[in-house]
Amino acid sequence: MPAQTFPITTSAKYLLTDSRTVAFPTESVFFAIKTEKSNGHQFVKDLYSIGVTQFVLEASSCTESYLKNNKFLELCNYWVVDSATEALQELAKKHRENFAIPIIGITGSNGKTIVKEWLSQILGQKYIVVKNPKSYNSQIGVPLSVWQLNEKHQFGIFEAGISKPNEMQNLQEVIQPTMGIFTNIGTAHAEFFENIELKIKEKLILFKNVNQLFFCRDNNLLEKNINKYIETVNPNCKLISWSASDGLANSFKFETANNLLTFFDGKRYYTYKLPFFDEASVENICHCIIVAKYLEFEFALINKEIGQIRSIEMRLELKDGTNQTQLIDDSYSNDFIGLKLAIEFLNQQKIYDKKIVIISDILQTDENEQQLYQKITNLIEANKIDLFIGIGPIITKNANLFNSNSQFFYNTESFLDKIEALQLQNATILIKGARAYSFEKIVAALQAKNHDTFLEINLDNLTHNFNYFRKKLPKSTKVMAMVKAFAYGAGNKEIASLLQHIGANYLGVAYTDEGIFLRQNGINLPIMVMNPANTDFKKILEYKLEPEIFSLNKLQKLIEFIENENTFIKVHLKLDTGMHRLGFMANEIDEVNFHLQKNPNIIVASIFSHLVGAENDIHDKFTHNQKELFDTMAHKLMLNIGYKPLLHLLNSAGISRFAEYTMDMVRLGVGMYGVTNNLAERQSLEIVGTLKTKISQIKSILANETVGYGRNGSILNDSRIATIAIGYADGYNRRFGNGVGKVLVNGILCPTIGNICMDMTMIDITQTTANEGDEVIVFGQNPNIYQLAEQIGTIPYEILTNIGERVKRIFYKV
Ligand SMILES: *Cc1c(COP(=O)(O)O)cnc(C)c1O
Repeated sequence: MPAQTFPITTSAKYLLTDSRTVAFPTESVFFAIKTEKSNGHQFVKDLYSIGVTQFVLEASSCTESYLKNNKFLELCNYWVVDSATEALQELAKKHRENFAIPIIGITGSNGKTIVKEWLSQILGQKYIVVKNPKSYNSQIGVPLSVWQLNEKHQFGIFEAGISKPNEMQNLQEVIQPTMGIFTNIGTAHAEFFENIELKIKEKLILFKNVNQLFFCRDNNLLEKNINKYIETVNPNCKLISWSASDGLANSFKFETANNLLTFFDGKRYYTYKLPFFDEASVENICHCIIVAKYLEFEFALINKEIGQIRSIEMRLELKDGTNQTQLIDDSYSNDFIGLKLAIEFLNQQKIYDKKIVIISDILQTDENEQQLYQKITNLIEANKIDLFIGIGPIITKNANLFNSNSQFFYNTESFLDKIEALQLQNATILIKGARAYSFEKIVAALQAKNHDTFLEINLDNLTHNFNYFRKKLPKSTKVMAMVKAFAYGAGNKEIASLLQHIGANYLGVAYTDEGIFLRQNGINLPIMVMNPANTDFKKILEYKLEPEIFSLNKLQKLIEFIENENTFIKVHLKLDTGMHRLGFMANEIDEVNFHLQKNPNIIVASIFSHLVGAENDIHDKFTHNQKELFDTMAHKLMLNIGYKPLLHLLNSAGISRFAEYTMDMVRLGVGMYGVTNNLAERQSLEIVGTLKTKISQIKSILANETVGYGRNGSILNDSRIATIAIGYADGYNRRFGNGVGKVLVNGILCPTIGNICMDMTMIDITQTTANEGDEVIVFGQNPNIYQLAEQIGTIPYEILTNIGERVKRIFYKV
């Protein structure tokens, strides 16, 4: 069939934008979208080979030669448009217009996803609600979300996220909300906006036609802009605002003491019991309550649902399991789209070859049961899942739809009885179940022994930071991501696996062992080893690692090794331009050249050096000199070897401050983990690691007693003292003792008291009502890692890399 043009009229049920997630090829239309990182047109052929026959292509890519190379398109239905993203939006917009139900649009800088999820749980008690899966709130995610709308839905809740000017109009047209919620606008400097006010104005466009708009009136700038916008653009809109505690109508008062939230509506008080303490969660739940109340939800109904909410329930966590397994813990919800996304995440994990999926019945669905489970079977088969386990009466009833690599259990208990016999090992296991099925018991049974102290790593934020630096670089520049020292304490195999997925070009480790470990865990990116031992070369070849050669001695040892091997080796030459750590000095280059000439089986993959003061402008002159010396030395080497290796100089601070020195590659380290010296840049980076522990015991201690070794912790007034499960062996430095360090307990910073012990620390919690077992935040948002570093006179790098090996790392994404 010849190319068709706008508008797109398709009978396809599924809109595809990611070629890796096809479950129903014949019922899908693929939008070939071009982004900075990938070009959908590349995947059209593969998709055709698995049965997709409908494509939306972009005129700029759909050239004559493209059509010639993809002759099969003549047999397909395809549309040629200017922008596939706009075509996708247009299609979703048309679809949206078929439904006359109330639709809530949510925007803001923080809290959109949580508010959407919580509110949909509350409203779900009375209505069939449709919402964005996870945080599908982008130019592409929103149309995909709205496309889900069908006749059965009674309420829609869609979040819209923007990062640049002129993006909201499109999303407004796709969502066409009838009601609006403006969540927290944050204080973060907006990357593509001149100031916060402009960002607010852009976001407000979502509400140009809503009938009601809900917001918190405690942010003056936000309130002022909402009033102005609504007055001029949408004067019929009813504004419904609330305050954290101004005492007027629609205000909330939060009492930390008993986790109580009191709401005053101008007539009477309502008191809700919350399962969390942090300010952000409290604000998010206030948005939900005020909307639910406006929709005349009874107090009891709201309160009941709040009791069930967990502030982290959206997360998908990756953790170590027993018997050589990795667990993906998504044990609080189960729906089809969430399952698709979780399986996508499962596919990204490369540590074990085998894939196991354990799911419960899917509840609260508006779909025909058999169709739904048929869809799941297709999904499982398309993703080559090695073992599928279904738990629950409904899925068991539909067992005949699944192939032979499946097992079914009537309930979670009967599965747990058989869990040993199933011998789940050497696999990545996805565990995803509706809340009622208590899949947390399955996670507990399969999880490697848990310790109360763990470092949570936010994979989405790491991706954000990686892309933040990536965007500063020309497209052709490669990124070597530094994962030395256990990926700066974050956990190297999981981080390397993520970096491989999001497009790092190289990895950098300090020692050979670190590189071997990554190879053994499914990492196939090129890996540079910065400090290989002379005896390592055999292993380096065996595991396809690439050594850094930094001295004549090391070069000599390499030559002795490689002369007896009938092969070549790729190396990286390190030049000393002023750091005076590792590297060839300028006067050694001739000798290096001499050896390289005699040993052409040594291939120079790159030549590099390291800046000593990139973050500080008082060293700028020195930095420029380093670059100059590097150029001279590298030039001499290249003239001799006769080819051009990759040249690189910049670390994180260098990328931020010396764009002109980018060359062929950069070595991104600490910035990716969310840490920077640059105060302005802190606003643009997201926090990656949060170190948490728990209260093991609480005691009331009378004045004049002491706490801990050496009687260093003197009690002046009667106090409540808690022992927490972290000590210097976990990386909580002894210098944090005696009140120097503070940790967060139920929203309150509590000082240490007495000396830090090896495995435990005592803190003064007199100001809180904390209980044994409560969570304690050692660092994260508050206190942050910069504060900790300052308290003990060190740098964030040291705090991160000192976190003990026995501290479990938990990786998560939303
Ligand atoms: C650690 C390291 C980096 C990364 O430095 P950051 O300051 O963490 O970005 C880059 N290059 C070399 C040689 C390193 O050792």
